[in-house]
Amino acid sequence: MDERFTVHAAGSIAIRGDSIVAVGDIGVDWDTADTVDCRGRVVLPGLVNAHTHAPMTLLRGLADDLRLDVWLMGYMMPVEREFVSPDFVALGTGLACAEMIRSGTTCFADMYYFEDAVADAAAAAGVRALCGQTVLKFRAPDAPSFEDSLARARDFIERWKGHPLIVPAPAPHAPYTCTTEILRACADLAVEFDVPLHTHLAETTFEVDQSRQEHGMPVIPWVKKQRVFDARVLAAHCVHVDEGEIRTLKEVGAGVAHNPTSNLKLGSGVAPITKMLELGVMVGIGTDGAASNNDLDMFEEMRLAAVLAKGMAADPTALPARQALAMATRLGAHAMHLGDITGSLEPGKRADLIVVDLEEPHNTPRFSRDTNAVYSQLVYAAKSTDVMDVMCNGRWLMRDRRLLTVDEAALQLAARDVARRIDMFLIQREQSVLQKLIAIGGVAEQESFEVQVKTRIASADAVVGAIAGDEITVIRSAHYHQYDTYFFFDDPAQGRLRYREDEFLDERDSVANARARLTLTGPSREATFGSVLLFRSRFFAPATHSPRFYREYFKPAREREVEKDRRRWLVAFRGVQFYVHVDRLLGPQAGEFLEVKSRTWSRRDAQDKAAIIMELLEHLGARPEDAIEADYVELA
Ligand SMILES: [Zn+2]
Repeated sequence: MDERFTVHAAGSIAIRGDSIVAVGDIGVDWDTADTVDCRGRVVLPGLVNAHTHAPMTLLRGLADDLRLDVWLMGYMMPVEREFVSPDFVALGTGLACAEMIRSGTTCFADMYYFEDAVADAAAAAGVRALCGQTVLKFRAPDAPSFEDSLARARDFIERWKGHPLIVPAPAPHAPYTCTTEILRACADLAVEFDVPLHTHLAETTFEVDQSRQEHGMPVIPWVKKQRVFDARVLAAHCVHVDEGEIRTLKEVGAGVAHNPTSNLKLGSGVAPITKMLELGVMVGIGTDGAASNNDLDMFEEMRLAAVLAKGMAADPTALPARQALAMATRLGAHAMHLGDITGSLEPGKRADLIVVDLEEPHNTPRFSRDTNAVYSQLVYAAKSTDVMDVMCNGRWLMRDRRLLTVDEAALQLAARDVARRIDMFLIQREQSVLQKLIAIGGVAEQESFEVQVKTRIASADAVVGAIAGDEITVIRSAHYHQYDTYFFFDDPAQGRLRYREDEFLDERDSVANARARLTLTGPSREATFGSVLLFRSRFFAPATHSPRFYREYFKPAREREVEKDRRRWLVAFRGVQFYVHVDRLLGPQAGEFLEVKSRTWSRRDAQDKAAIIMELLEHLGARPEDAIEADYVELA
């Protein structure tokens, strides 16, 4: 796997300490303590997993067949916030190392929280790793704020820099989960300590569209403008990049981690790796985390990379087996900026190697006419279970399929216990719409109550005239166009969830700005007082996702849409503040309504306000006996 793809049909490798000292026809004059006979097998560089999140083995199979945002924001992040700790990370990484060693991986690029625990577990297992301490703009399991996560990254890099197996790195999660300040600070940190920077770039069209919208340019130029490429960048995904962006990646010397299974499974697309390789970008192969793959099998990944490239190009000569294996070894090491020490079997490089048994029926027979036949065999026929022996940094990690540095049974037992606890947490959460809302970081305003009365009116003019009268003081007024989507659930006790898009209309009735928010309305807690609704719990949350996200996340049993034009006044009447709404329903049913409401905090207060609200209603020219108990969504 050197630059010239030298194949030694017969030969030896001499290893001293942690390094390879000779390869090929090395002669016989060696005084050696340990000789391993590998006849009938293939010795090749240990595989390089260029992008993963090792601790996520503990979330393997937790939530699948979901869209990226629902998967990430709805499941991964809430569970991570609740469960991720140094112990969780150590356990997950131990399990990942067991799986990686078994499948022939000796080097991986990681990005997670509590990265110290990842580095500790990888070093204990004897596996080489580029460990990226995550930095992002949200509260993370290991840092309440971005300043804390940046401080943690600095501290982590200082502690691990110079370790024989671990290369520490800052890992700004992605441009859309970071601020420009975070991106720059991480790049500065990487430059200051001369370590790589690990991030996700251009994974989805959504990300690229958002970048164009917010910054007027796609992801790669934007990131370049923030000086991120001052650092030696390892960029995972790069699915949606054009040729100009690929040239930029090449110019700045960034490495790319291609994650075909994850990109396919999450429906993100296929990275244009054939073009990248053609233009000389260092492209490695990664499995991504076990929650989106769902394994860390690099044999599977390189085979998929090869066949997928052919399928995409409608060209069977695209990405030959030899190049796919190079991506999974030497090119991957270069993409991680570790190409000087690992990725090939050459004198001077670390002794990171694997021995693969090619005698199994699925590998039989073998041809020797073409020296490239061995690449085909390894990429298209061999399985990760054919890996027999694994060495990293001159130390055996597996001999004869027996792990030497990791206690698999203990890790599996502990992992099953974590899965039980996560199951219980999610079962409980899924029972309550409110808990699910809280889980996505939603609820901005806690439970509140209101008194409310609503009547159908023949014309809005009388109401508007009455508001202008002496007895009512207008505090402020506004005009909106509102689009409501109501989600209903089978259990009425769950209440209903409303997704509302408000367009503020200016004096000339053109849209001044818009906002979206969610309201979870519980069933009425108390009987209505006459036609006045007394108590109802309401939770508000800013709606930062699309209605589609909420539909897929909350899985409502039914939904309805209501569109209306609303004129709103905040008024004072008899010393009490009320909201007066004059609503014109536009769809699905038309009609004009008057709604008067006030926030309240106690039953006594509600009863007092209920009396005044009826008076106000009459004052506005509506008849209390016309009050309706139905809601717009019920009328609709
Ligand atoms: Zn990732």
